[in-house]
Amino acid sequence: MPRKRSIKLRCPICKKLVTAADPEFPFCSDRCRSIDLGKWASGAYVIPSVETEADEAIPQSTPEDED
Ligand SMILES: [Zn+2]
Repeated sequence: MPRKRSIKLRCPICKKLVTAADPEFPFCSDRCRSIDLGKWASGAYVIPSVETEADEAIPQSTPEDED
């Protein structure tokens, strides 16, 4: 039995084992890939928006006055 380096991941949709050789990797099938895309499109995965406005309001505290 030859030692073969194979990457295996679980399909993020149905948790089925998928090898890197799979054309739909990391999904087990085109169906699961579509489901995942649909999740993104419908906003199931929400990326928290970062309020960059507050950046300027934060005072730069310097540790220099410690000594
Ligand atoms: Zn799947």
